[in-house]
Amino acid sequence: MIENHITLKKSEMPTVWYNILPDLPRPLDPPLHPLTKQPVAPQDLEPIFPPSLIAQEVSSENFIDIPGEVLDIYRLWRPTPLIRALRLEKALRTPARIYYKYEGVSPAGSHKPNTAVAQAYYNKKDGTKRLTTETGAGQWGSALAMACQFFGIECTVYMVKVSYEQKPYRKVLMQTWGASVFPSPSERTKAGRDILAKDPNSLGSLGIAISEAIEDAVNTPNSKYSLGSVLNHVLLHQTIIGEEARLQLEKAGESFPDIVIGCVGGGSNFGGILFPFMRDKLKGTRDFRAIAVEPVACSSLLKGKYDYDYGDVAKNTPLLKMHTLGHDFIPPAIHAGGLRYHGMAPIISLLYDTGYIEAQAYHQSEVFEAALLFARTEGIVVAPESAHAVKACIEEAKKCAEKGEEKVILFNLSGHGFLDLGAYDKFLNEGLPDVSE
Ligand SMILES: *Cc1c(COP(=O)(O)O)cnc(C)c1O
Repeated sequence: MIENHITLKKSEMPTVWYNILPDLPRPLDPPLHPLTKQPVAPQDLEPIFPPSLIAQEVSSENFIDIPGEVLDIYRLWRPTPLIRALRLEKALRTPARIYYKYEGVSPAGSHKPNTAVAQAYYNKKDGTKRLTTETGAGQWGSALAMACQFFGIECTVYMVKVSYEQKPYRKVLMQTWGASVFPSPSERTKAGRDILAKDPNSLGSLGIAISEAIEDAVNTPNSKYSLGSVLNHVLLHQTIIGEEARLQLEKAGESFPDIVIGCVGGGSNFGGILFPFMRDKLKGTRDFRAIAVEPVACSSLLKGKYDYDYGDVAKNTPLLKMHTLGHDFIPPAIHAGGLRYHGMAPIISLLYDTGYIEAQAYHQSEVFEAALLFARTEGIVVAPESAHAVKACIEEAKKCAEKGEEKVILFNLSGHGFLDLGAYDKFLNEGLPDVSE
């Protein structure tokens, strides 16, 4: 019998995050001030982020100890399982060995609590009383709501209006964990009011919601802002995924993956599973393919420019050098709400630009086809975002079948789809349109 669940004991859980910054093929271009366009000094970020997180954003240490209080909370659901997809392999008649890291076992149902808990911890330590944030599909907002609750911090969430309307249960989840939730664009901020004046029916976007959350944090005493993806410290916190996966693959008797796959919105779950393996590729001691998977409707790596851009619509954020479709880009209302961001993490963008990772894009109907095959073989109903990784994995496994190659494919299953059943309903009973940007 093949062990198809590779678990780690609580005592085997890694106790450090891996910081890829010092190992990158070249240094990141510095963030620029939104008004002066000069490089921002770390302390320029203090109105929005606490000092501990700013320090992590620019840290040159390779490994950062995970604080005990964060580890205690991680242990509520971590280590997460690594699962060999034997039944999917069989359905595809592939000689490839497929493993997926299942982050859907967290209380919020995705990988997002890995950074939410860390961010709430450091904010608490640095004296923050209230956090504001934006959320797309609601996974990030719910993760932060839970984390804030654990540390006794207030939480205000600006939720992209299209998701607020399509996914009411996420709002309920955030409120259950004690957060206040507002559909964005809202009348609460100047950024929101400006958008509504131009377009009263605006469905919102992550870029607009970020503007609102930052404006709120900057104008309210003891409030800071929290971002669920893109930034270096967020990707850092997610490396717990890949550190665990390395240990688990070893336990499974695999020396190294041949292909590592993740869906990319801002790049955090992909970076999280990838970087602990990329460490060896950057040193030149191992080689493998890394595939970032995007929706065709919002394809910032394949179709965006690699240039300085703002993170939000109102141009309040520092300019980051990244792959971007433009800060005012409003993607079509596809169901993978978590992949509807115009930009990409600067670290992922640099690794793509230097050829260390590749990208693929798929339409939502083929992505849901893949999700159905996965549900019908492995049982798990995946989030529409994660279904992009499933699709790419299936394509690679089929190539292995054609060529008779026994590759080891590892993908990150970033979350479950139990709160996305409306999208499955549409796909099963009406069919989903394929939209390009
Ligand atoms: C938010 C989210 C994503 C996309 O965000 P990344 O920062 O790119 O990881 C992917 N999958 C799920 C389940 C999410 O909640």
